[in-house]
Amino acid sequence: MEERARVPPGLPRPCPTVSYWQDPPADIADLRTTAELPAKADYVVVGSGISGAFIAYKILCKQPKASVVVLEARQAASGATGRNGGHTKAASYRSFVDHEKELGLDEAMRISRLEYANIVATHDFARKHGIRCDSNSCDTVDIIYSQTHLDAGKEAIRRMREAMGEDDPAAQYRVFNAAEARKIFRTPSALGAFQYAAGSLSAYAFAIGVLKLALGKGLNLQTNTPAESITFTDKSGRTIWSVQTPRGCIETPNLVLATNGYTAHLVPQMQGLIVPLHGQVVAQRPGLGMPQTGLPDTYSFIHETGYEYMITRPPLTLDEGTIIIGGGLWQLPNSGASRYGETDDTSLEPTITKYLRDCTSGFFGSHWGPDHASGRIRKEWSGIMGASADGLPYVGAMPDMPGLWISAAFNGHGMVWCLKVAEALVEMMVGDEGEQRAVDEWFPRSARMSGERMGRRFMGRKDLRAPGEGGFGERGRP
Ligand SMILES: Cc1cc2nc3c(=O)[nH]c(=O)nc-3n(C[C@H](O)[C@H](O)[C@H](O)COP(=O)(O)OP(=O)(O)OC[C@H]3O[C@@H](n4cnc5c(N)ncnc54)[C@H](O)[C@@H]3O)c2cc1C
Repeated sequence: MEERARVPPGLPRPCPTVSYWQDPPADIADLRTTAELPAKADYVVVGSGISGAFIAYKILCKQPKASVVVLEARQAASGATGRNGGHTKAASYRSFVDHEKELGLDEAMRISRLEYANIVATHDFARKHGIRCDSNSCDTVDIIYSQTHLDAGKEAIRRMREAMGEDDPAAQYRVFNAAEARKIFRTPSALGAFQYAAGSLSAYAFAIGVLKLALGKGLNLQTNTPAESITFTDKSGRTIWSVQTPRGCIETPNLVLATNGYTAHLVPQMQGLIVPLHGQVVAQRPGLGMPQTGLPDTYSFIHETGYEYMITRPPLTLDEGTIIIGGGLWQLPNSGASRYGETDDTSLEPTITKYLRDCTSGFFGSHWGPDHASGRIRKEWSGIMGASADGLPYVGAMPDMPGLWISAAFNGHGMVWCLKVAEALVEMMVGDEGEQRAVDEWFPRSARMSGERMGRRFMGRKDLRAPGEGGFGERGRP
């Protein structure tokens, strides 16, 4: 794993696979607000995923007169955001016990509450601003195939309820035994299940919608403009950052990195702290025995050493009932170690492709029925996540680099972090004393960037542990 963590990410690759969500691409996919790259701006944000989009929007809400430029290496929102599974699902119980042990109860509760609040805020934002992203707030279910995960999950849920109170919406779970899970959720091999609040949407359409709102407030979006390198100089006692691109250089006193898995390309000190992770997703037509307009819940399928995540397109949306499923990393040797450090989203990994194509009929057994006459597969694609050394995103000021800010490494769970993180980051950047203090009240301290966190090193992805399991990655090794 240490070896994989040392592979330089490079820049986002040209001609990536096209996700289900990006077909057709948005009308602003290749937008350059101005033909020339501006020579300077008050704020430059690198990356136009959900993080970069929401940070730019939030800055413009607070400082309507500020000049804000977003640089994007490829098309708008064509990183992880444009190619993810569309799941707004926290599964906070899976990390709560470890967070309590490693970071303390207050942090564990802050993280769980942030994740829940982020889900609610995302769907509320889409509704309020009329963003057409098929936002669907619904329940999700974890179908458990491992006794270890079942027992650990029940204990984690008990502990969350005890610590946070029965009424805390972030601690609300329903537990099902094997017979119930098999019947209610159509999963004949389940050992049990946990059900709780979550949702689904097109993260691509959502981020494009946020970018459009920011454009309406004066954002200058520059797509197909990679930031190749960054340097700084001191001008009249102020640090000014220069961002070099193939179209010239842009200067700013406030540079924000919303570059997820690619961050170490611009800041080599982040090598081994943010490690890219190649993930895969497939869109499938449901078998003819399955509900053709979608399932009421979204799903995860939890095995001893890994998991899959699945949504169905909600009723009355385009391709209603279509299954979007990702995961399968655990099918590879060493829990998929070869996928870490990999930024090639122009290709698919064949073992995972085969597994993801076949697994759905396995999960639903005789409920699946014959495949659809048009075939099971609609689309397959890959994308690059950013995994962090301690399992939490890096948010805030880069130590000893005045004017450089970061919001990156969402460990495959950005849809339950990015909005609240963007909100917190912008308060940290431009908020007055009172606003900064308010952020301290709710934002997890352990997710703030710090010199201490920069000293850690990547050992593997933390969310593959069973809740409460001490070390991680060990059981996954064949
Ligand atoms: C296959 C897959 C499935 C996923 N499924 C889910 C899911 O179901 N639910 C969930 O919560 N999360 C999921 N995730 C994770 C989620 O998509 C991310 O956590 C989230 O999108 C992160 O958003 P971001 O804006 O921080 O990063 P990104 O969306 O990755 O955006 C970073 C952007 O920066 C750009 N960039 C990078 N370097 C440069 C540079 N030097 N110059 C210019 N531009 C640059 C990239 O091109 C990219 O557009 C999934 C991710 C993947 C890859």
